[in-house]
Amino acid sequence: MALTAQAMADTDTTRPKILVVDDDPLNIRLLHLVLGQQHDVYMATSGEQALALSVEIKPDVILLDVIMPGMDGHEICRRLKANPVTMEIPVIFITAQNNEAEEVRGLELGAVDFIRKPINAVILQARLRTHVTLKRQGDILRTMASVDGLTGVANRRRFEEILGLHWLQSARTGAPLSLILFDVDHFKKYNDHYGHRAGDDCLVRVAGAAAKAMRRPFDLIARYGGEEFACVLPDTDTAGALHIAALILANVAQCAILHETLGADRLVSVSAGIATQRGAVDQDYEALVKAADQQLYRAKADGRNRVAAAPA
Ligand code: GH3
Ligand code: MG
Ligand code: MG
Repeated sequence: MALTAQAMADTDTTRPKILVVDDDPLNIRLLHLVLGQQHDVYMATSGEQALALSVEIKPDVILLDVIMPGMDGHEICRRLKANPVTMEIPVIFITAQNNEAEEVRGLELGAVDFIRKPINAVILQARLRTHVTLKRQGDILRTMASVDGLTGVANRRRFEEILGLHWLQSARTGAPLSLILFDVDHFKKYNDHYGHRAGDDCLVRVAGAAAKAMRRPFDLIARYGGEEFACVLPDTDTAGALHIAALILANVAQCAILHETLGADRLVSVSAGIATQRGAVDQDYEALVKAADQQLYRAKADGRNRVAAAPA
């Protein structure tokens, strides 16, 4: 199933995950009683535990007690909103007091709502329903904005965003940053012979095979355009990128997608170009893309189904 379709299915079917953060076990038990039937309820009794669990389970909503010993609710909220992994999770404060200044502070910190103690079960459930729905609709939109609809890998927009970030990081730290551009060989002939639909299927399989070559959490594969893909490899020198590119070619070959217009048992292949940035540079990241594109052109000119890299 394509990624966006999976996200939409999840919206309707999976039980909402709610993280309850409260230092008082009685309050937690009460919330569990109210919510346990329709939600998967997780609990944390300290700020540290809440932050760790939020990253681990990625709840749909966090119910946060304002007043807690140690890290208080406001500080927890501030930290959740400062972390890209947890910043989109809606936070609802649970508060005992009728304190307007406290509500203003919470809303300024990024909370979406307030619920007062003593808890009214109907109000709590209704508000949660609203915020879970909004959160999941937001998840779908965020996915659609960054994922290629056909292949499920990152789209061009996401690629530019991530390459820009790693480019800056590399310029600052001096760590190498490699870029692989690869393109399906003789794809026009493939489409002409098997039809556009089969061409689409071929792109899905090529993207899937290449994605398996991404080894580290920050490696990114994206659809750059039509039948062209790009891999951003932070902290990777030319030798490392050559290794990954060889893996991509091998994985695509292993798919054994027949391309019989080229010859009786010829298979779909790709060609790849590599460029590596090391340390501070005065051009922008477009220069890196251009350098990788020149190498891709060279790989094509040298006979395709091969990798070319700019001299290290
Ligand atoms: P080369 O080996 O030099 O890369 O030759 P090529 O035929 O692969 O390159 P060319 O750029 O001439 O043709 C690319 C083809 O890719 C033409 C275009 O119709 C096809 N294409 C681009 N995007 C898609 C797509 O999303 N689906 C399908 N089925 N075809 C696509
Ligand atoms: Mg091509
Ligand atoms: Mg092309």
